[in-house]
Amino acid sequence: MIAVDRIDDLRAHCDAARRDGRRVGLVPTMGYFHEGHRSLMRTAREQTDLVVTTIFVNPLQFGPNEDLDAYPRDLAGDSDAAQGEGVDILFTPSIAEMYPEPTRTTVHVAGLTEGLCGAARPTHFDGVTTVVAKLFAIVGPCTAYFGRKDYQQVAVVSRMVADLDLPVSVVGCPLVREPDGLAMSSRNAYLSSDERWRATGIFQALRDAAEAVERGERDPEALRTGIEHAGTHLGLDLEYVEVRRCTDLSTVTTLAGDLLVAVAARVGGTRLIDNITLQISGSEVTTDLGVITQGSTTEPQRKQSFRRGPQVEHPRVDSNARISLS
Ligand code: AMP
Repeated sequence: MIAVDRIDDLRAHCDAARRDGRRVGLVPTMGYFHEGHRSLMRTAREQTDLVVTTIFVNPLQFGPNEDLDAYPRDLAGDSDAAQGEGVDILFTPSIAEMYPEPTRTTVHVAGLTEGLCGAARPTHFDGVTTVVAKLFAIVGPCTAYFGRKDYQQVAVVSRMVADLDLPVSVVGCPLVREPDGLAMSSRNAYLSSDERWRATGIFQALRDAAEAVERGERDPEALRTGIEHAGTHLGLDLEYVEVRRCTDLSTVTTLAGDLLVAVAARVGGTRLIDNITLQISGSEVTTDLGVITQGSTTEPQRKQSFRRGPQVEHPRVDSNARISLS
């Protein structure tokens, strides 16, 4: 694995690979790797010839009172993990390298960025799309890998790619969970043991909601209220509970079709997000709760899927297809 911190060097490596006919895969991250990040690198390794993983804690996507300075970092551990997953190039630029001057250009994806996480973080997605557009321009990947844990992010980046005709396929990879169901996140490192225990309530509430739909619930408001009650009972400070259409994140009046159930909650001072997806066709319900890891997160994982019902591929965002958002 080559470690690179200069844009010109990274571009030269990627240009050379493409000239040789090699497919370049990109995994953009903010570091402090866990199994969720590693699963993206593994998929990139399987599907492309030159795997580039980037670590950049992007100031543009943090609000004024957010955790930019406190964000956890472990470059040595991350480097070992990336090497272990067969990453070819680890790009770790400084802020000065990425933004030598305050950027006057940003990318804004209207319509998909105002709700859900965008409501409490109004500048967040512009920061994400701006840095992702820069990374696409530097790396020139054939394929870029993102986690469905950040479902809205996958939708927003996919829409940017479609609107700007960027020559890259966006792959949304499965959400990876701790053995107790908590969605893996670098921010889980902030949780005390009591908060860590309470945080699992997010997954429990989502799983209970899925079971309610499987029993026949078809009212989105009842589903939302059920999750709010469960979350409050479990001591969670919920920021939002939303049911949206997977394709375009629009709101729904009835539970039918391909739906995202998304939650943001504060546990202590830590903001966590999670989601599940449901495919509802009449009385048939297929739930995708993501993938749960078994045991240590630093060893290669045996994974158990919590998908219920018939084993079908995710309708819009699967790990092998370009995401299509209407
Ligand atoms: P981050 O470092 O948090 O910005 O995340 C980098 C990439 O890893 C993003 O595409 C995330 O969606 C993805 N990711 C983070 N956590 C998970 C998870 N638990 N499961 C799957 N992907 C994840």
